[in-house]
Amino acid sequence: MTSSLDDLPLRDDLRGLTPYGAPQAPLPIALNVNENTHPVPDEVASDILDDIAVALRDVNRYPDREFTALREGFAEYLGHGLEASQIWAGNGSNEVLQHILQAFAGPGRTVFSFVPTYSMYPLLAQGTGARWVAGRREPDYTLTADEAVAQIEQVDPDVVLLCAPNNPTGTPLGLDVVEAVYEATRGVVVVDEAYQEFAPHDAPSALTLLDGRPRLAVSRTMSKAFAFAGARVGYLAADPSFIDALRLVRLPYHLSALTQAAASAALRNADVMLGMVEEIVAQRDRISATLEALGYTPHDSWSNFVLFGGVADPKRTWQELYDRGVLIRDVGIPGHLRVTAGTEAETTAFLDALASIGSES
Ligand SMILES: *Cc1c(COP(=O)(O)O)cnc(C)c1O
Repeated sequence: MTSSLDDLPLRDDLRGLTPYGAPQAPLPIALNVNENTHPVPDEVASDILDDIAVALRDVNRYPDREFTALREGFAEYLGHGLEASQIWAGNGSNEVLQHILQAFAGPGRTVFSFVPTYSMYPLLAQGTGARWVAGRREPDYTLTADEAVAQIEQVDPDVVLLCAPNNPTGTPLGLDVVEAVYEATRGVVVVDEAYQEFAPHDAPSALTLLDGRPRLAVSRTMSKAFAFAGARVGYLAADPSFIDALRLVRLPYHLSALTQAAASAALRNADVMLGMVEEIVAQRDRISATLEALGYTPHDSWSNFVLFGGVADPKRTWQELYDRGVLIRDVGIPGHLRVTAGTEAETTAFLDALASIGSES
């Protein structure tokens, strides 16, 4: 017997919503969800496996609820004088963001961001019963401090989510905007730096603003630069009191002993794990240059992907690439598609496939 969702006593505020659903198709060239497409190097994989094997022997016991060793590892990796008491982690930064919204959003509260931005923000907000309000960006997707402040004063949100660099556009965000937004709101401000490792090396992180700003949090993930998407590890840095708020809503032992072991070992090998970042950035810039030569309009990107306009029929181009074994992303922006920078070979396959479509239509 099967029933439909409409027949169930679902929460009224969840009726009509659609779940996150980036296609997971087994195509040879998958450049649709901004993963690092380089596999974990063999020597690092066996180092991680050794630590997982040790953790497995104690897996009859609950793990360290405070994931102390891992928090120390993240504090050291992030630098800026951060301490373990300022670090939080979860099963992907999606869970970290969910913890923030469970603690600071919820029914009767408002979550605000500037669209187009990460498609999970409205879903995470609505999942906690909060109201989602979408602000505007400039036509080139940038955001000025004055414009951001004007919108925030109008909405008076409880949580502001700032994606920097922004997904799906790749747009950088000035720290002056973060500072101005923080001053303009009584709510918490989250800077989602999922792609920070792909930004220019001299581009300052919002981590530099944490001191003296207890309502500010900076989230990161191991899913992108770290080539660890399948392990599900995200983290954030904030004031220790902010971390205390997250303890109220997390499930006990939410980070498994195996996850903690794997993430700590991967962090210990950060140099090797991040060794492909320069190569990915080079492929990103090659994509932008080639797209421009093909007559498309790529947007400036500080991430590991490129959003490009000038696509007459995105659905059709997406399908024609799909039929050639190349999976990219239709993010729903008219005239645009988004592609992740892959290995040199994957990037070539995408660019060749796109060029061949162009010449046929
Ligand atoms: C990919 C991505 C994340 C990371 O999600 P995980 O749950 O850590 O895999 C977070 N924020 C943005 C903007 C992203 O694009």
